[in-house]
Amino acid sequence: MTVLVERLAVIGAGLIGSSVARAAREKGLARIVVVTDQDPAVRARVRELGFAHEVPDSAAAAAEGADFVIACVPVGASGAVAAEIAPALKPGAIVSDVGSVKAAVLEFMAPHLPAHAHLVPAHPVAGTEFSGPDAGFAALFEGRWCIVTPPAEADPAAVETVTALWRGFGSNVETMSAQHHDLVLAITSHVPHLIAYNIVGTAAHLEQTLTSEVIKFSAGGFRDFTRIAASDPTMWRDVFLYNREAVLEMLGRFNEDLSALQRAIRYGDGQALFDHFTRTRAIRRSIIEQGQETAAPDFGRRPGAPAGS
Ligand code: NAP
Repeated sequence: MTVLVERLAVIGAGLIGSSVARAAREKGLARIVVVTDQDPAVRARVRELGFAHEVPDSAAAAAEGADFVIACVPVGASGAVAAEIAPALKPGAIVSDVGSVKAAVLEFMAPHLPAHAHLVPAHPVAGTEFSGPDAGFAALFEGRWCIVTPPAEADPAAVETVTALWRGFGSNVETMSAQHHDLVLAITSHVPHLIAYNIVGTAAHLEQTLTSEVIKFSAGGFRDFTRIAASDPTMWRDVFLYNREAVLEMLGRFNEDLSALQRAIRYGDGQALFDHFTRTRAIRRSIIEQGQETAAPDFGRRPGAPAGS
């Protein structure tokens, strides 16, 4: 593959950052891959794993001379990263991120960046429930979506480079506004994670108070929820703090629809339940047909077929 970036700096070497670095290196998309993390133990592990050419001790040192800096940190940390790298950015440098919420990232990062840098946020809709530099792998983004959310005044050439990089990772790229992204992801990712966190919490509480053996007899459905509810607490705390409005809007709709199902159960309206379940089954089929999931009943989160977040 052709080199798109001379010097790529990855800030944050967790699941996503280490996957970006591995993919850039394996696919030859960047000539030099520089990786850093705020945690010295993570930096030491990155050196051991050997997927970076250089592992400097700070975000500012990593950004020095980079053509493309990508922040792979929790959404709430993106402003601090922007403030730290700003003085080190060379003219024309592209700054991007991978955060699961986009309007907040724009709000947090943009004010810190110099006019000579180009901010083009993006969100790979791919992930697993694992964290840290050991969890990443180069194929994570293959066949998944990456949503690019350039601000209105973004430099077209920078948007093109960001798009080309994600295509190079094997992703399909779609461009939309940050606000639209946040609304769509609230219902497709954020509310489902909240439901998983909630149902697993309820079951754990029952287990304690009623010794109800929910964990012992957890069959497919519940087990899949526990997988989602094992996702990184810091990342998901930030998703709900910084996509508050969209999540609350979607939760309102969710609660109304849940009440309708509750009512059908109360009044023994089998037809309503059957019709609803038939409609939802068709949605599952169309997701599989679009290649975003396999038919296997484990949310497709095996390496090589990761589910989105
Ligand atoms: P992760 O595995 O927990 O890694 C995040 C890393 O960033 C950690 O090593 C963390 O260090 C480090 N970090 C935090 N603040 C930093 C700072 N100011 N400077 C440098 N490093 C810093 O998380 P992840 O799953 O890769 O998520 C990273 C981003 O990707 C998040 O914004 C998330 O919304 C987005 N995302 C995640 C998924 C997913 O499924 N996981 C999918 C798509 C997008 P500490 O441990 O010391 O805090």
